[in-house]
Amino acid sequence: MSAPQLLWFRNDLRLADHAAVSAAARAGPVVALFVLDDDSPGHWQMGAAQRWWLHHSLASLAESLAAQGGRLVLRRGPAGVVVPQLARDIGAAAVHTLTHYEPWAKAQDAAVARALADTPTAFRRYHGVLLAPPASVLAGNGGRYRIFTPWWRKLQEQMPPARPQPAPAMAFAAPPMSDALADWTLLPTKPDWAGGFAVWTPGEAGAAARLQQFLAVAAAYDKGRNLPSQDGSSRLSPHLALGEISVRAVWHAVADAIPAAAAEPFLRELGWRDFAANILDQFPDHGDVPGRPVFDAIAFRDAPADLAAWQQGSTGYPIVDAGMRQLWATGWMHNRVRMIAASFLTKHLLIDWRVGERWFWDCLVDADLGANSLGWQWVMGSGVDSSPFNRVFAPVTQSSKFDAAGYIRQWVPELAPLRDADIHAPWEAEPLMLRAAGVTLGRTYPRPIIGHAEGRARALAAYAEAGAS
Ligand SMILES: Cc1cc2nc3c(=O)[nH]c(=O)nc-3n(C[C@H](O)[C@H](O)[C@H](O)COP(=O)(O)OP(=O)(O)OC[C@H]3O[C@@H](n4cnc5c(N)ncnc54)[C@H](O)[C@@H]3O)c2cc1C
Repeated sequence: MSAPQLLWFRNDLRLADHAAVSAAARAGPVVALFVLDDDSPGHWQMGAAQRWWLHHSLASLAESLAAQGGRLVLRRGPAGVVVPQLARDIGAAAVHTLTHYEPWAKAQDAAVARALADTPTAFRRYHGVLLAPPASVLAGNGGRYRIFTPWWRKLQEQMPPARPQPAPAMAFAAPPMSDALADWTLLPTKPDWAGGFAVWTPGEAGAAARLQQFLAVAAAYDKGRNLPSQDGSSRLSPHLALGEISVRAVWHAVADAIPAAAAEPFLRELGWRDFAANILDQFPDHGDVPGRPVFDAIAFRDAPADLAAWQQGSTGYPIVDAGMRQLWATGWMHNRVRMIAASFLTKHLLIDWRVGERWFWDCLVDADLGANSLGWQWVMGSGVDSSPFNRVFAPVTQSSKFDAAGYIRQWVPELAPLRDADIHAPWEAEPLMLRAAGVTLGRTYPRPIIGHAEGRARALAAYAEAGAS
C-alpha cells in the first residue's frame, strides 16, 4: 500500500468541493486530522459559542468519514508542531490543507512548512476558502484594494467561480490514536446557555439544507435582508465560517436558482466575505488596531455598568436590546441590528469598539476575524477605507424604518403588547398606552440609559478632541 496522505482539516469541515480532500483522496490512502489549536490564535482563540458549533460540526464530519470507512483523528496543541509530528509518525507522503488567511493560520503554515522542509513529506496547500485568493485581485498598478466597490468590480474578471466538485470516494490508511471529542469539553455544561442554539443544524448536511431553505426566498433577498422581523437573509454565516459549505457552491446555487438581477445583491454580500478576508490578509492586526491611528487617541469611556446593560440587552432601546438578546440566545444577530447595536456601543456609550468586537467574538456562532473586525471598524468609522466617524445610527429611526416591531416582540417580550407606533421608543408613548400594555418604565423595562442626541454629541466631541475632525 502507498504511503498515507495526511488530510488536515481546519475551519473547512466538509467533504464536498474541498480541494485538499479531493487531492488527498486522489493521491492515496488518507488519514483525516483536525487539530484544536488554542495556542496559535493567542487572544483570538475560538470563542464559546463557536466552540459549541465546532463540537457538532466535528461530530458530523466524523460521521461522514465513518460512513466511508474512515475515522477523524482529533489532536490538540499548536498545529505547527502537531501536524508535522503526526506526518512523521505515520510516514505521510504529503500533508494536504486549504489556505486560510487569519494571521495564526499563516503562522501555522509557516511552522509546518519549516518542520517538513528537508523531509520526505510534501506540504500542499490549496485555494478553497474564498471566491478568489486575496492576492489575485489587483489594481492596475499591481497594488491591493482597500475599498470594496473597485475591488468587487475587479473581482468580476474571475467570476463566476469554478463549479463546485462533489465529495470524492476515499480510501483510508490505518488511523493513529485520537482524542475523544467529549474530552475537549467544547459544549457548555454549568450553566448550559446553549438551549436556544437548537435552531441550528451544524454540519455539512445542515449547511446544504439551510441553503435549500434560503433558495425559496432568495429572489426577495434585496428587500428582505434588511428586515429583522423576517427570515430574509440566508443565515449561512456560521456554516460558511466553519467551511461546512464552499462559498462557490453557495454562489452557483443562488445564481442558478434566480434571475441575475435578483441574485446580484446576495452575491455581492458573499463578496463582502471575501473582501473582509482580503483586508485581514493585508492588515493582519485589523482585529486590534484601527485602520487610522487617530482612533487610538479617542478617550473611550470605561463604563462597566453601561457595558453590562448593552451585553444583557437592557439599554432601554428596544431594537438594541432585541439584538443583544438574540445574540445571547442563539449565537447570531441580524446584520442590520449588528450595525445598530455596534454603533450604539461605540458612539452612544463611547465604549472602545474592541470591547464590543470581543463580546461578539465570544457570542457569535459565525465569528470570523475578518468579517468581525471589518464590521466593527466600518461601524466605528476607523477602517482603512476611510468610512466616516460621524455616521451615528439612530436606533429609533432605524427600528421603525426597517419595521422591527415583530422582531422586538420576539426578543423583548415584556414590550410585546405595545402598539407598533410605541414599541420602537416606549418612553415616548402615552402613559395610558404603557399602562394598558402592562409596561412600567424603570421597572418592567428600563428607561434609555442615554438620550440619542446627548450620546451623539458626546461621541462627536470625543472624536473632535482626539484631533480628528
Ligand atoms: C459589527 C459587525 C460584526 C460582524 N461580525 C461578523 C462575523 O464575525 N462573522 C460573519 O460572518 N459576519 C459578520 N458580520 C457581517 C454580517 O452581519 C453577517 O455575515 C450576516 O449577518 C450573516 O447573516 P446571513 O448568513 O444571513 O447573511 P446573508 O445576508 O445571507 O449573506 C450571505 C453571506 O455573506 C457573508 N456576508 C454578508 N454580509 C457580510 C459582511 N458585512 N461582511 C462579511 N461577510 C458578509 C456571510 O458569510 C453571509 O453568510 C458582522 C457585521 C457587523 C456590522
